[in-house]
Amino acid sequence: MAYRTEALFRDDAYLKTADATVVAVNDRGGIIFDRTIFYATSGGQLGDSGALERADGSRIEIAATITGETKDEIIHVPAPAQAALAVGEKVKLAIDWERRHLLMRMHAACHLLTVVCPFPITGASVSEDDSRVDFDIPDASFTGEEVTAGLMDLVRADHPIFTRLISDEELAANPGLVKSKNVRPPVGTGKIRLVCIGENASVDSQPCGGTHVKSTGEVGEIHIGKIEKKGRENRRFRIRFGPMPAN
Ligand SMILES: [Zn+2]
Repeated sequence: MAYRTEALFRDDAYLKTADATVVAVNDRGGIIFDRTIFYATSGGQLGDSGALERADGSRIEIAATITGETKDEIIHVPAPAQAALAVGEKVKLAIDWERRHLLMRMHAACHLLTVVCPFPITGASVSEDDSRVDFDIPDASFTGEEVTAGLMDLVRADHPIFTRLISDEELAANPGLVKSKNVRPPVGTGKIRLVCIGENASVDSQPCGGTHVKSTGEVGEIHIGKIEKKGRENRRFRIRFGPMPAN
């Protein structure tokens, strides 16, 4: 049977700690809580690491967070040689906030890249120091300098980033919201989460279940590290933090 974990990060990506109760421990030691602030690896974004604090003050390190049988079942994977928890035990969850904030900045940066490069997305991966987005672009005339300038214009404008729920029907009526070439957002649950940028989503909106910073200014300085050719029409853009290195 699949569990349904209440995903607190969906409404508030800035939660650093929360109380939770163990509802199950699977045969490989993975822990499932009633609720969590740990994002599970999905949609190209790496899952969280962090720790659990028990009532006696001892800690259990969490090395990774993954989804189980369904996307709603969130499994916390302990580091090797940690004490075992019992079902019903109450703990305090604490994510590695420094790492998560880097992931939130990087993930938002990927959305900005899809605004500067408005082409179908064929793949993406968000990690804390390097991210990539693959686009189906027949034209190879983009330069890293131009794209970086476009990204930094959006960062400096400090647009708000927020989420909004829409219905399956609203999504069907606005097919342009979906920028992925091959991946369709899950429909049938009645609600699709849109990540919007700008007042009234004037800059962008697209379905996404990840975690993002609350404004484009919070992304900070970023640059395009490299543009690689992956196949005839695929271009892979790498995003890095900091100014573009002079060469
Ligand atoms: Zn996103």
